[in-house]
Amino acid sequence: MGYAVLKSAAPFTLHIRCENCLRDSFKVVEMPVGDDVPRDADELIESVFLEKIPFRCRPCDSVIGRLVGISGGGDPYAY
Ligand SMILES: [Zn+2]
Repeated sequence: MGYAVLKSAAPFTLHIRCENCLRDSFKVVEMPVGDDVPRDADELIESVFLEKIPFRCRPCDSVIGRLVGISGGGDPYAY
């Protein structure tokens, strides 16, 4: 199914830590196709896509999460 890769960017995996209960969770984000779609983690961080991604911690229902790492897309990236 190699042709599917050409149609859409690779999905990113966001690693998010809940600010309330400090549990780590992750969220897979499928990128839409377009000229201004981020192709690697650095571009994703600088883009507006992150601001549109909702977060809700399942165990404690907090909506405040801190991004602790991103994988997928281009090279793995963490900070
Ligand atoms: Zn939580």
